[in-house]
Amino acid sequence: MTAFFITTAIDYANGDPHLGHAFEKVGADCIARYRRLRGDEVWFLMGMDEHGQKVAQAAAAEGVTPQAFVDRIAGRFEAMWDRLSISRDQFIRTTSPAHQAGVQELIERIFARSPDDFYERSYSGMYCVGCEAFKQPAEIVDGKCELHPTRTLEMVSERNWFFRLSRYQEFLRRHIEAHPEFIQPESRRNEILGLLNQGLEDVSASRARLGWGVPFPRPTSDGQQQTTYVWFDALPNYWTATRLPGTRAVWPAQQHVVGKDITRFHCVIWPAMLEAAGLPLPGRVWAHGFVHLGGERFSKSAGVTLDLGEAIDRFGPDAFRYYLLREIPWDSDGNFSWERFEERYISELADGLGNLASRSLAMIQRYRDRVVPRTAADASLDAKGAEVTGLYAAAMDALDLRRGAELMGELVTAANLFIVQTAPWTLAKNGEREALDIALGALARCLARLAVLSGPLMPGKSAELWTLLGGPAGAQSMAWETAMSPAVDGWVVTKPEGLFPKPQADT
Ligand SMILES: [Zn+2]
Repeated sequence: MTAFFITTAIDYANGDPHLGHAFEKVGADCIARYRRLRGDEVWFLMGMDEHGQKVAQAAAAEGVTPQAFVDRIAGRFEAMWDRLSISRDQFIRTTSPAHQAGVQELIERIFARSPDDFYERSYSGMYCVGCEAFKQPAEIVDGKCELHPTRTLEMVSERNWFFRLSRYQEFLRRHIEAHPEFIQPESRRNEILGLLNQGLEDVSASRARLGWGVPFPRPTSDGQQQTTYVWFDALPNYWTATRLPGTRAVWPAQQHVVGKDITRFHCVIWPAMLEAAGLPLPGRVWAHGFVHLGGERFSKSAGVTLDLGEAIDRFGPDAFRYYLLREIPWDSDGNFSWERFEERYISELADGLGNLASRSLAMIQRYRDRVVPRTAADASLDAKGAEVTGLYAAAMDALDLRRGAELMGELVTAANLFIVQTAPWTLAKNGEREALDIALGALARCLARLAVLSGPLMPGKSAELWTLLGGPAGAQSMAWETAMSPAVDGWVVTKPEGLFPKPQADT
């Protein structure tokens, strides 16, 4: 078995989960489920980033302790991931004592192995609480942070621990050049190489005034106890998770999944920290794009946002997952619109896969008393199924999730065409028994393939389809071998009540 340790970004605990969070988690879950299907020993890590001034301020505004505040937010995120069937193995929270101890240990490892990498420096500048960062003059517009025009910038002077990031410029460039797969997609890799060409500045590793965080393990020379800077607290979660009780994760991770806005942290600061600590680097960092809101409802009035719960309720969690994966490229930006969502749901799921399952299983029920016939020969549809399965594997291996979803659709279209061309009802009427068996057997094999291939995208509907087909119970039996060569002879099928019911006309 191949170990496959996959992580998502940990989410900042100052608000509720939104569409951007959901897109990342659904994509990563699709990858994790696909790797499990292929027989890998998968460990899927997610979690919450719970420290920082914004959290402390939000808690104070509500009159609760920061811990009570993040406990509640973490509960809401986990409930959302349950609802979307996100198959995480571990959910790390940066306020857990074990993570905090791990952060301190990582910093001590850097002190021990690379003693010059931390040094003290006095610093003063304009600090944005929204960004949790000092802002350069170019980032300040009309005296405000360009990203947070409603917040007041604060003039801050402090003596901090700094991390000598500049020292790792050549190391990072060599690593990225020697391992083209380290940063994907290509556009992000080029961005990081561009950044390295401009030269790296050292970064702050501790904060003097931030109370809500992990204590930096060493005081400054004037005896001040400081707090670990947010990124030195958050990034190590991927490593500290491998040391928590009950985990089976082994460092290094094979795959980090993050948003394109935080690639610099994951492709520059994080690998430099690991190298400084003498730890191996992750296999690859995948940076996905953003989901923009499009369509009529969002353009009618400015500031309308998407209610994640409403979007999931529209056609159910599986349809929502499918739509995101089918519509939005995993390597760049895309749009969510209610119109496209409904269009795809009706044409690809209700009239596509749902109708195919319904017609095929109804015919097996009517003509063969629910039992999938044994056949001596394959049909053209079997060749198409094998071809699509191969292409699907290639697409998913390359993390082209949208292409994987599209290929499923191609097989559905081919199967619906196959029904029209073979017209099993005519074969039944004319008593062409063997030809009818071949057609019905091919349709059952095609549905078994689709049940397996849809698993990473729509785990609930995939299991439902498998049960309707009369497949043996247990997820193990939906193994990849079924997609390669479905053995469905003698299975006893059930006609579906409506795998993907159509929406009512008035909505
Ligand atoms: Zn800001």
